[in-house]
Amino acid sequence: MNPQYRTLEQKRKFYDSQAWKQLREEVKDRDNHECQECKRNGLVSIDTNEYSETAKRKKIALVVDHIKELEDHPELALEIDNLETLCVSCHNVKHGRVFVPNVNKWAADERWD
Ligand SMILES: [Zn+2]
Ligand SMILES: [Zn+2]
Repeated sequence: MNPQYRTLEQKRKFYDSQAWKQLREEVKDRDNHECQECKRNGLVSIDTNEYSETAKRKKIALVVDHIKELEDHPELALEIDNLETLCVSCHNVKHGRVFVPNVNKWAADERWD
């Protein structure tokens, strides 16, 4: 029987596993450390070595994504053909987590009063 990845705890365990960490690096190597979605759109998004002061670690530019989601397809969790490298913004778009800055026009205008 395949393991399930439904709860946060189950997912955390998976993403912490040695098998995943190894495979994740293999996928990034296979994809030349380039976002595959950007590539499909004729753009290039590669990994950065920028350091984030606030997070106290290297900025994460690339993630390795499950094409068929882990939750729905636990049997494909470690299937290299089900994995691809995405940049953080493409990954957010894929999952509908688009960050729209809340620009408050009036607050900005006030400065000029
Ligand atoms: Zn991208
Ligand atoms: Zn994903």
